[in-house]
Amino acid sequence: MQTIDSDPPIHFIQNIIAEDLKTGKYDGRVHTRFPPEPNGYLHIGHAKSICLNFGLASRYSGKCNLRFDDTNPSKEAEEYVRAIEEDVRWLGFDWDDRLYYASENFDQLYEFAVRLIKKGKAYVDALSPEQIRAYRGTLSEPGRDSPHRDKSVEENLDLFQRMRVGEFAEGEKVLRAKIDMASGNLNLRDPVMYRILKSPHHRTGDKWCIYPMYDFTHGQSDSLERITHSLCTLEFEDHRPLYDWFLNELNIYRPQQIEFARLNLNYTVLSKRKLLQLVEEKHVSGWSDPRMPTLSGMRRRGYPPEAIRDFCERVGVSKSNSTVDFALLEHCVRDNLNRTALRAMVVVRPLKVVIENYPEDHAEELTAENNPEDSTAGSRKIFFSRTLYIERDDFMENPPAKFFRLVPGKEVRLKYAYIIKCERVIKDENTGDVIELRCTYDPETKSGHSHASRKVKGTLHWLATTHAEPVEVRLYDHLFRNENPTADEKEYPDLQSSLNPDSLESIRGAFMEPFLKTAASGDRFQFLRMGYFCVDNESSAPGAPVFNRTVTLRDTWAKIAKKSPRRR
Ligand code: ATP
Ligand code: MG
Repeated sequence: MQTIDSDPPIHFIQNIIAEDLKTGKYDGRVHTRFPPEPNGYLHIGHAKSICLNFGLASRYSGKCNLRFDDTNPSKEAEEYVRAIEEDVRWLGFDWDDRLYYASENFDQLYEFAVRLIKKGKAYVDALSPEQIRAYRGTLSEPGRDSPHRDKSVEENLDLFQRMRVGEFAEGEKVLRAKIDMASGNLNLRDPVMYRILKSPHHRTGDKWCIYPMYDFTHGQSDSLERITHSLCTLEFEDHRPLYDWFLNELNIYRPQQIEFARLNLNYTVLSKRKLLQLVEEKHVSGWSDPRMPTLSGMRRRGYPPEAIRDFCERVGVSKSNSTVDFALLEHCVRDNLNRTALRAMVVVRPLKVVIENYPEDHAEELTAENNPEDSTAGSRKIFFSRTLYIERDDFMENPPAKFFRLVPGKEVRLKYAYIIKCERVIKDENTGDVIELRCTYDPETKSGHSHASRKVKGTLHWLATTHAEPVEVRLYDHLFRNENPTADEKEYPDLQSSLNPDSLESIRGAFMEPFLKTAASGDRFQFLRMGYFCVDNESSAPGAPVFNRTVTLRDTWAKIAKKSPRRR
């Protein structure tokens, strides 16, 4: 399997930067930015962009800004600003003192707009939004000029000024760039630069009732911040001519826009609109629900930031869209946690076992490894006693072939302890359910002792009932039933029915080793044979952790990769 590579392969953007450094295009500077709109929480797709932008800056000793692209006050909020900052920091990146808001440029952008009006390159239009759409034409038909296109500069300046002071209602007027209604690129058919929005802004308050559109904001903000390489996703390829047009017409410093393929992941959606819908319709507990593909959800679930960065590295950067297997992300999480997580024993669905030949009222101290992958992790004490819990699934009365766990009359090893044999099964008289196993142990088989070499096929985790604390654990599965939730929209037009009804299982009757009581919020462990778990940062209380299963131990990616080794 691939490991973390300190010197990953060169991708096309690095080639571009290397060339620019060679020719001195930006005086040897590399300056990128990550430009989220504060209208939702960051998701794993954003992580790709964050790792790319901050990663390039650090690789080429450059800088990366964090810039909030806050031009749509009706959808944006301070809550999102704070969450985005927290998530970028958590991922391991730092913008130092380079925190910007596009809204800080509103005065400058207004002045830029006036400049274009004066050049005869922008005009105030009175067509309604519907009319503008109708006049725009289609990919096969040219658009038509607005009847308001040829007003004088003075008239346009006056109207724009009156838009600014609030004389018109929303939708009554817009400012448009005067480019070419017959352009083959729809983005160049006199795009709207400013619209009237009578909403207060989370940063500028009531100062403005006109707001610049994304296309009239983004490039100029890049220019004002003297960005060198403005990286964005492929959907913006057709916007690049407009990006360049504004900067050329304004005759200001020009960064280079470069597009790359966005990250798509199966079994989930990466659209803020859909994620917001999941939150608003309460299909999840919030943006940081552990099933969400948000960074806050993944943090709460227990994904280490290093694993997410490793994932983004392995996914790479290209020009063609594709969908990445969720199993690869989970593989990266396991790879990290296998090295870093302390081991513990937790019995999720307990079945009581009585060792009939073991003395009553005796607690025997045994030694358990904290992490076999980490020689510095040390060991801890665990206790064995006459009554134990094992996992209910680890016993079968009538097992199929190759069931190497506990069955009547057969032996199994208890990890760090003894080999036990199942002698009798006790059932509930009414329901017939197995409620207890009567076993014997072989005192000659204590783990770690030289004469303990007798081999049995299965090894189980367990807890002494005298040294077990009750705990709640939460098990998760994919939020959506099918691999491609977006393609399923036809089959399941409402979100509800495309969701996996079994994506969350909360189990309150589990037991844990007592030391886990002191685990702190966010601590991660491997519960032997059950998976990696993390202390929930919302519902845990001091001394009473609730554990989220981060990921199971079964690495489906390793299997897929073996079958088709070239797939990444
Ligand atoms: P959405 O379409 O979900 O609302 P967005 O692209 O509008 O997402 P922004 O806040 O504008 O969200 O995104 C900030 C940056 O993150 C942009 O540069 C955008 O290109 C990048 N980004 C967003 N989604 C992805 C993704 N799936 N893969 C890679 N980069 C992404
Ligand atoms: Mg966007």
